[in-house]
Amino acid sequence: MPTHTASQRYLSTRGGSYDFSFEEVVLKGLASDGGLFIPEEIPALPSDWATKWHNLSFEDLAYEIFSLYISPSEIPSADLKDIIRRSYATFRTKDVTPTVTLDKEKNIHLLELFHGPTFAFKDVALQFLGNLFEYFLVRRNEGKSGRDREHLTVVGATSGDTGSAAIYGLRGKKDVSVFIMHPHGKVSAIQEAQMTTVLDANVHNLAVDGTFDDCQDFVKALFADPEINKTHKLAAVNSINWARILAQITYYFYSYFNLIRQQSFLPASKVRFVVPTGNFGDILAGYFAKRMGLPAEKLVIATNENDILHRFWSSGKYEKHPVYGAAAEGGLAEDGVKAHSSGVKETLSPAMDILVSSNFERLLWFLAYEVYSTSADAVSQRRAQAGDHVRSWLNDLKAKGGFGVDVQILAAAQQDFSSYRVSDEETLATIKQVFSAGSAQGYVLDPHSAIGIAASLRDAEVAGPPSTHHISLSTAHPAKFSNAVEQALPEEKAYFAEKVLPEEFKGLEDKPRRVSHVKKSDGWEGVRKVVVAEVEAELQAADKAGR
Ligand SMILES: *Cc1c(COP(=O)(O)O)cnc(C)c1O
Repeated sequence: MPTHTASQRYLSTRGGSYDFSFEEVVLKGLASDGGLFIPEEIPALPSDWATKWHNLSFEDLAYEIFSLYISPSEIPSADLKDIIRRSYATFRTKDVTPTVTLDKEKNIHLLELFHGPTFAFKDVALQFLGNLFEYFLVRRNEGKSGRDREHLTVVGATSGDTGSAAIYGLRGKKDVSVFIMHPHGKVSAIQEAQMTTVLDANVHNLAVDGTFDDCQDFVKALFADPEINKTHKLAAVNSINWARILAQITYYFYSYFNLIRQQSFLPASKVRFVVPTGNFGDILAGYFAKRMGLPAEKLVIATNENDILHRFWSSGKYEKHPVYGAAAEGGLAEDGVKAHSSGVKETLSPAMDILVSSNFERLLWFLAYEVYSTSADAVSQRRAQAGDHVRSWLNDLKAKGGFGVDVQILAAAQQDFSSYRVSDEETLATIKQVFSAGSAQGYVLDPHSAIGIAASLRDAEVAGPPSTHHISLSTAHPAKFSNAVEQALPEEKAYFAEKVLPEEFKGLEDKPRRVSHVKKSDGWEGVRKVVVAEVEAELQAADKAGR
């Protein structure tokens, strides 16, 4: 049984690192053995959670949940509350993540996660992570001034969503600079405008003339470079950062309570969460919620045509597609590898275009821990064994392009999860169908959210209403991916401009921009030069201002 330990510690999925604090885990991102950090124990809910948490605001609920993972000796309660309050004050709705009912007959609900500054679900985590970075840095720098202050340099690559959410999460933060590389001309116009119109001194956009993979390679080279690591403290904000998973647990509970408060949800009703999935971060938060004790009957993975997860749940084999060549994976991989060279298929839901899902490694650890050992074994031995299994699977993935698991592991995975694969064609048909028929006529889905709804509709035929409710996660605002919406609803341009397009997007593309250009031929050393020079300029400006 999971237990709530007052002092939560973290370990690496590959067995090489133990006993880390939350702060170390957040600032490091990736463990030095190449593994991902997980809590030593998944905390159980307090026995009175169902009544005590029932009416809490999003912020208060986040506080209750985060407190189970962060020791008060690391972040005192009042400070944690303040970080949470500031992180969600930037959202446009009081509810932060409201749940709307899309189909009353079929009990299909949509959990809207796109009310943050960049209109995508990644804001829920990155607003929090930005404030955490600042909190830790400022605390480490207490009593220090000028060049004695520790400075964090966040470096990341993006094909769209992560970059803008990271920039909005980190803009204006003390003692932190952020460098985001995007492939020049290869991110959507609105995403490019979102990123490059942020003019805060600590935000640095680098447009690389190359592909997303080139950007990714530059990031990896920088993290591996002894020279810059001597002079700069580098940090990552990609979806493997534990704090991002943690922040996403809240809305599973919040949405569950939302349903409970509705009359249609009876004590005997069951709930399934459906999650448009790429790197497996969002749905992994649902797994933690379920393991803590949230009564979710199933977690449903919805993939696009990049379906490595769907193939795993169908066969027990986790393989980069056989017809495609080897490519970069895991670690620093982030939203949607677009380059065809990597074997990823470009779809209408680019934030889910991935070859392998980095966060899946965390689930593998828990599966191995439970299947391959018994509670009679010493805990340290059980953990070491789980780490050995994960290491061997991931080695095979790297060396052979895939691995298979035993039937017991697959059965354990199937107990908590099921999966669906949704084509571009079905994505468009779903946007159209929801817009023109049913109880939510006129509702416009973005292509990622449409994949969740397509999977929900199919799953509702297996696990039917009225006793089962589906909560489908809506991960982006339709205006962020308007080309897919236009393809699905070609007649509705005027409706879209009038009723759907947010005020914030109007005129965004005409605002002043700041961006540095990097040639692919400059190589990662060229990027290093820019990073070093721009951090230096930033620090000099701070020196002058007497900070
Ligand atoms: C990142 C993203 C996803 C995928 O989430 P994962 O945590 O990587 O599975 C889905 N939809 C949108 C819009 C995203 O930005």
